Amino acid sequence: MSVSNFEELAEHIGHKIVAVSYGNPKEPANVAIECETCKEVLLDFDNEGGEQKEQGGKKMEGLAEQILEDEFGIELDSFSVSQLEKISKLLAQVAKEKKGGE
Ligand SMILES: [Zn+2]
Repeated sequence: MSVSNFEELAEHIGHKIVAVSYGNPKEPANVAIECETCKEVLLDFDNEGGEQKEQGGKKMEGLAEQILEDEFGIELDSFSVSQLEKISKLLAQVAKEKKGGE
């Protein structure tokens, strides 16, 4: 469980926020930023590859965004989440139809 948007994080304003580690204290398997008031994990990373995966995901996201902007002049920020979901569904459908036609 972690927060991923403004509303979710804003719920913890004024709460007691702590950084904790899990596993061996010298070499923690996992570190987390938690809200002690709600006993909820706000952000956490695993020690083995967890951080790299996260960075890789962000890089891919950035690359896709750049391609869309450079090649098609599409700015992802100008779309709402529901619009983006619609677009991705449409693109998946187009790809499926194209595949079937070949
Ligand atoms: Zn809280």
